[in-house]
Amino acid sequence: MDYLLSVQNLSKKYSNQFAINNISLNLKKGEIYGLIGKNGAGKTTLLKIISGLVKPSNGDVALFDYSGASRKKVLSRIGTLIEAPGLYSNLTAYDNLKLKCLCLGINDPKYIGSILEIVGLEGESNKKVKQYSLGMKQRLGIAMALVGEPDLLLLDEPINGLDPQGIKDVRDIVLKLNKEYGITMIISSHILDELLKIVDRFGIINDGRLLKEISKAELKEICCNHIEINIEE
Ligand code: ATP
Repeated sequence: MDYLLSVQNLSKKYSNQFAINNISLNLKKGEIYGLIGKNGAGKTTLLKIISGLVKPSNGDVALFDYSGASRKKVLSRIGTLIEAPGLYSNLTAYDNLKLKCLCLGINDPKYIGSILEIVGLEGESNKKVKQYSLGMKQRLGIAMALVGEPDLLLLDEPINGLDPQGIKDVRDIVLKLNKEYGITMIISSHILDELLKIVDRFGIINDGRLLKEISKAELKEICCNHIEINIEE
């Protein structure tokens, strides 16, 4: 089996409290992994540590294809949309992307156009971000995360607060990125129904610990049984 990501014994302590407590997980190449857990369970902290935004108190994050590579190189292979996308609202979507590209040494309008096309914003790229709906901002956030063609994409609550069309747009993009571009992903969400449409395998997080990893088929079965129990009651 070809693996992409290795997370080993990751912990993060704030004061005396563990936000993440000894989490280990491996991701296969091309897998979409869902993180589920109640508020404060540790999902965002785990994604922030994997992306390099937060330093762990203990443990390691590595990409198998880049063993021995510098931390900077490894982090450059990871795209993130964590919490609100960092967008300049007075700039157009195109200029937001152009800025990110220039930071990575990319100066190619065609490249920007291709990313806008993936997220379906090619016709709206000259609008200022402040004119964008929440769904469009999330799609632009995904586009920003795609600059540099990451191997791994981390999406933290990407559909939170979106209307049904916005949720479908994000779902379609996620599935396209996975199927057509082979991008491996971790997605956190509270909306289990939606995750079941996208994710291959789930990690259930509680109080900073990875309680259980479960396949989509197993989780569907549990959910169905649960619904049956509720109906009978
Ligand atoms: P939510 O869905 O509400 O975002 P979550 O599962 O993403 O929840 P985290 O945001 O990772 O959970 O938080 C895990 C725990 O770590 C919580 O108890 C939170 O209060 C704490 N925590 C997170 N960031 C910090 C910080 N910078 N300083 C102190 N405590 C923090």
